[in-house]
Amino acid sequence: TSPELEAIRQRLPGWLKASSPCSDRGKVASYIPELSKAPHDALGITLLSAQGESVTAGDCGLRFTMQSISKVFTLILALMDNGEETVFGKVGMEPTGDNFNSMLKLELVRPGIPFNPMINAGAITVSSLIRGNSPYEKSGRILQFLKELSGNADLEYDMGVYRSESDTGNLNRSIAFFLKENGVLGGDVEEVLEVYFRHCSIVVDCADLARMGLVLACSGLDPLTGQTLIPRRYVQIAKTFMTTCGMYNASGEFAIQVGLPAKSGVSGGILTFVPGRYGIGVVGPALNDKGNSYAGVHLLQALSREMDWSMF
Ligand code: GLU
Repeated sequence: TSPELEAIRQRLPGWLKASSPCSDRGKVASYIPELSKAPHDALGITLLSAQGESVTAGDCGLRFTMQSISKVFTLILALMDNGEETVFGKVGMEPTGDNFNSMLKLELVRPGIPFNPMINAGAITVSSLIRGNSPYEKSGRILQFLKELSGNADLEYDMGVYRSESDTGNLNRSIAFFLKENGVLGGDVEEVLEVYFRHCSIVVDCADLARMGLVLACSGLDPLTGQTLIPRRYVQIAKTFMTTCGMYNASGEFAIQVGLPAKSGVSGGILTFVPGRYGIGVVGPALNDKGNSYAGVHLLQALSREMDWSMF
């Protein structure tokens, strides 16, 4: 074990204990009814090094749905399927400063074109660009891609969460119809939403996120198998979006306080990484008012500061 990893192993339980009470101030997401069942006080983390060694603490075995974290990988797959020109003809590259599910700027600035692929409007557009002859085939390709990246062939959907979101997702439906009206979305709106809701409902634990993060940390190469899974350029693009828009409209604050590329989801997961060195998965279902894991962000702040990991 490297001296750094050993130091982390010794100190991580203390940092986790200090961050855990933050959950008291947070709230588990409930706008997707099924998500409200998540354990409010849970907090877990897994770090995986490029040498294949891992350090874990807390509730790292908790299973939760990827939600918005999946947007990073659907973007990458859409880029691999279509190239940059097609993808960025349909979705922009700028942060919004608005909520992830906001419709505000869809009409205001560049009519119909979502600002970036990390907000719902952008991610739904990206889902429509995934290759396949049916929603089933498209979803299957996304799931297969995530299985390869996580090294976990057992990844599956949480159909309860999927149905819960599909039954109640009126806002996402509105966004999708608006995009369709403006000619941004091709194909059948309900079919695109099926692909989107499905990838949001893929179940992972912290180890799965850490492994996916490690591939991003190594610019698309899985250091544990020696296989290149993503072209370097597309990791560079994903990494940039994670840094500028990955933590909703707290991305600027996260860049200052933690300084690592990251993507969070409303289930309380955070995927982040230390370039070249570690993939990191975190979960803490109680969210702060920006929609990020309250305790998870606190824990990453401690870790990054103590280890001097900020990229900036
Ligand atoms: N499926 C969720 C939604 O569209 C994802 C949101 C998120 O994690 O930010 O509302």
